Amino acid sequence: MLESLKSLLPGKVSTAPADLETHGRDEGHLLQRPPLAVVYAESLADVQAALAWARAERIPVVPFGAGTSLEGHVVPQGPALSLDLSRMNRVLRVAPQDFLAEVEPGLTRKALNEALKGTGLFFPVDPGADATLGGMAATNASGTTTVRYGGMRANVLALQVVLANGEVLELGRGVRKTSAGYDLKDLFIGSEGTLGIITRLTLRLHPLPEHIHTLRVFFGSLESTAEAAYRVMASGLPVARLELVDARAIAAINRYLGRSYPEEPALFVEFHSSTREALGAESALALELMREAGALQVDVAHTQEERTAQWEARHQAYWAMVNLYPGRNYLITDTAVPLSKMPELVAYASRLLGELGLAGNIVGHVGDGNFHTLVVYEQGDSRPEEFAERLVERALALGGTCTGEHGVGLRKRKYLPKEHGPALEWMRRIKHLFDPENLLNPGKVFEAASVS
Ligand SMILES: Cc1cc2nc3c(=O)[nH]c(=O)nc-3n(C[C@H](O)[C@H](O)[C@H](O)COP(=O)(O)OP(=O)(O)OC[C@H]3O[C@@H](n4cnc5c(N)ncnc54)[C@H](O)[C@@H]3O)c2cc1C
Repeated sequence: MLESLKSLLPGKVSTAPADLETHGRDEGHLLQRPPLAVVYAESLADVQAALAWARAERIPVVPFGAGTSLEGHVVPQGPALSLDLSRMNRVLRVAPQDFLAEVEPGLTRKALNEALKGTGLFFPVDPGADATLGGMAATNASGTTTVRYGGMRANVLALQVVLANGEVLELGRGVRKTSAGYDLKDLFIGSEGTLGIITRLTLRLHPLPEHIHTLRVFFGSLESTAEAAYRVMASGLPVARLELVDARAIAAINRYLGRSYPEEPALFVEFHSSTREALGAESALALELMREAGALQVDVAHTQEERTAQWEARHQAYWAMVNLYPGRNYLITDTAVPLSKMPELVAYASRLLGELGLAGNIVGHVGDGNFHTLVVYEQGDSRPEEFAERLVERALALGGTCTGEHGVGLRKRKYLPKEHGPALEWMRRIKHLFDPENLLNPGKVFEAASVS
C-alpha cells in the first residue's frame, strides 16, 4: 500500500524507524503510537497529493510541525500518515511598510525573527519551544509577550488551507481589520489539524521596541506575588511580559542553568516603550505597586545579555523541572481565568498540590490570567489526574477555561462538555462539514466523531 504513496511522492516518504518514532509522540503526553509513514511535504502540491492518497486508501492524516505540543495532538489514534510540514519553511515575502510577512507553515518562530533582522520588526508570539508557525496557528499558541502583543489569533491576518477533499481556501486578508462575512480564518486557528492543513500564513509584525526595562521582583509568598501581578494589570500599565515563577521553579532553574536567583516566588517583568521617559514612568509605577503588595527584592537586567538570560531562564523552567526528577512522568495544566480571579486560582493550585502530597511547580503568564502547574509523578499514580480535574473544575467555576494556550489534544477532551455545553455539538458539526470522512487528525478535540 505504501509503495503507491512512495511512487506518488518520490524521496518524500519515510518509514525509517527513527522517523516513525519521533512522529508518534509529542513533548508532553505519555501516549506514543508511530504512524504508518511520514510524508515530508515540500509544496502545496505535495500536501494535496498526500491527501488524495489518504482519501483513496481511507487512511487518516495527522499534520506535524515541530512536535512540541503537549496534549497528545500529534499522536495517531490508529493507522495514520504523519504529514510533516517542516520542509515548507520559506519566508515568502516581507513587507515592512505594511508590517507583515508571508511564510510557509514549517518555518519556526526563531527562524522568522532571524530573517527579520535588519528590518526593525519582529514577530512577538513566543511559546517556550521553537515551534513552527503552522503548528502555532493550529494550537492558537501564545507566550510571555501575549499580554502586550496578543497570541496567534491576533497576529495571523490570513491563511491558506487545504481541506481534506484537496480544495484550497484563502482565508482572511493582509489587513488589520475586516468585516467581510464569517471569520473562517479564526475558525482554523486553534483547530489542531482537524479541519484542514495550513500551507501559508500572513503574519502581523511589530516594531522592535526602542527601550526595554526588565526586572525580577521577589516576594515572601506566592499569594503576594500573584496579588502584585494583578495590581500591575489592574493599573492599566502597558506591561510587555508579566510572568510568575514560584520558589520551586526558581530552585530548579538555579540547578539546571547554574544561576543563583533567590529561591523565592518572583515576577519576571518587562516594559517596552518608544521613549525613555515613558519607560521610566511606567516601570516606576509598577515597582511602587509591587512594593505595596510585598516585593522584597528587585533585580534589574541592565544589558541585552542579562535580559536574554532572564527570559532564557523562564523559557527553560519546564526543562529545569523535568531535569530535576529524571525518569518521572509530568502532567502540565494551563487553566486561564478572568484576571481578578487569577490570584485565587494560583492559591488554590498551590494548596491542592500540598493537599494531594504532590511535587510540582507553578509558572505562567499571569498577566493573561493563565498559569501552568507542572506536576511530577511516578507511573500509576492517579493523584495528578485528580489534581488536574479539580483545578479545571475550579477554573470553570471562576468563569475560566481548561486551556489558555496548549489546546485540547487528547487530554483535555473530557473537559469540553462542561466548558462549552451545547456549543460542543455545533463544533462537531463544523468538523463534519469540513471533513465528513474524519480524515484529519481524528480523535483530537472530540471524544467521538459522531454527528447527530
Ligand atoms: C517547553 C515547552 C514550553 C511550551 N510553552 C508554551 C507556551 O508558552 N505557549 C504555548 O502556546 N505553547 C507552549 N508549548 C506548546 C507548543 O510549543 C505549542 O503548542 C506549539 O504551538 C506547537 O507547535 P509545533 O510546531 O510544535 O506543532 P506540533 O506539535 O507539530 O502540532 C501541534 C498541532 O498542530 C497541528 N498542526 C501542525 N502543523 C499544522 C499545519 N501546518 N496545518 C494544520 N495543523 C497543523 C498538529 O496536527 C497538532 O494538532 C510549549 C511546549 C514546550 C515543550
